[in-house]
Amino acid sequence: MLTAIVGVNWGDEGKGRMVDLLSESYGVICRYQGGNNAGHTVVNDKGRFILNLLPSGILRGETVNVMGGGMVIDLEHLCGEIGSLRAKGVSITPDNLKISHNAFICLPYHKAQDILEEDRLADKKFGSTRRGIGPAYGDKYMKKGLRMGDLLEAGQLKQKLYDILEWKNITLKGYGAAIEEPSDILRWLYEYGAVLAPYVADTTRYLSEAVRAGKNIMFEAQLGSLRDIDYGIYPYTTSSHTLAAFAPIGAGIPGAKLERVIGVMKAYSSCVGEGPFTAELFGEEAAALREAGGEYGAATGRPRRVGGFDIPASRYGVQVQGANELALTKLDVLSYLDKIPICAAYEIDGVNCADFPAGDRLMRAKPVYEYLDGFKTDISKCRKSEDLPTEAKEYIRFIENAVGCPIKYVSVGPGRDEYLTMK
Ligand code: GDP
Repeated sequence: MLTAIVGVNWGDEGKGRMVDLLSESYGVICRYQGGNNAGHTVVNDKGRFILNLLPSGILRGETVNVMGGGMVIDLEHLCGEIGSLRAKGVSITPDNLKISHNAFICLPYHKAQDILEEDRLADKKFGSTRRGIGPAYGDKYMKKGLRMGDLLEAGQLKQKLYDILEWKNITLKGYGAAIEEPSDILRWLYEYGAVLAPYVADTTRYLSEAVRAGKNIMFEAQLGSLRDIDYGIYPYTTSSHTLAAFAPIGAGIPGAKLERVIGVMKAYSSCVGEGPFTAELFGEEAAALREAGGEYGAATGRPRRVGGFDIPASRYGVQVQGANELALTKLDVLSYLDKIPICAAYEIDGVNCADFPAGDRLMRAKPVYEYLDGFKTDISKCRKSEDLPTEAKEYIRFIENAVGCPIKYVSVGPGRDEYLTMK
């Protein structure tokens, strides 16, 4: 069984906890895109973990974790993440972690360039996480970069780096920044590359053999539909493909077909950074929801923008993911509300619109809010759909009908067992 777990909205939907929950029956877990620009939070019997780069399956000893060729990897950050997990007793070896030799290396100057550009943009900034992901993907498509496999060829690494730096320093000079010295970057590459080299592998071969052997493989996405570089709210997107269809490509088995696509969506909306976020709530209503949901970025600690569940955006998100089942997370967060706000449609140029609009029409969209009855009960102990109050069940059914895909799982707390399966 080949399964992808993907975000339906703007990211931070709780994908990490769903992977952690469902990964039990999967022998292989793959990350296939992005870098350390987002974080999955997983709470289980070993503690609370924030994973920026490592697949969430790393927390299950028996699972093999693949970091695919579609990723961009900051070596220093990855070494830090491995170190902090090991300190909490998680075992990480070349047997349970395999990094594609095709994955792109996010170098210190990518981070520097990200910061220089956001500062140059000032009040027009995109809200980048400033971790170098955009510049790294840009260089990848310019074909000016290093990949994980290069770490295994120390002899050629130096010359490749010199050639690229000649080009990159033209850009850095343009910003009026100090140029990068090859010796500094080489030291960085040798130091962290030595730690990571044993994990570099041919993930295409590994995954092809796993498919042939009938293993269950799960693909774990970062961010959500609306951040996809092609189908999201461009240019306020990430620089990679967050969609399920890209999973086999980014992981290393481009020809493989997904059988199961689980879309994860939150019972309300949240968004980090700039860009159109039509359902956004403000003032006390927003502050109460942010507080109830603990909506602060896992990678950066930034307060997230929040709003009611957004039907036009989520229906679109489900569609572009090709989701065939859904997980609705953080329903417990809404228990303080007498009436639950829900963004049922958008108003654009005075006309109500049910579909998710593109480009400038989206920038002009205003939310059309409706209110459903709140459940006003602590649902965090519910473990069966029958245990849920009627209003909570009605809320779930309303959303399910609106987005056009069955909701199979509902989570009612961050812990591994704090969820229920819908009947
Ligand atoms: P991801 O990137 O999609 O994995 O999402 P994040 O990790 O950024 O955000 C999810 C946050 O919500 C984490 O802090 C989780 O521990 C927490 N969380 C996940 N599911 C639930 C839930 O059902 N209820 C509550 N209260 N918190 C949850």
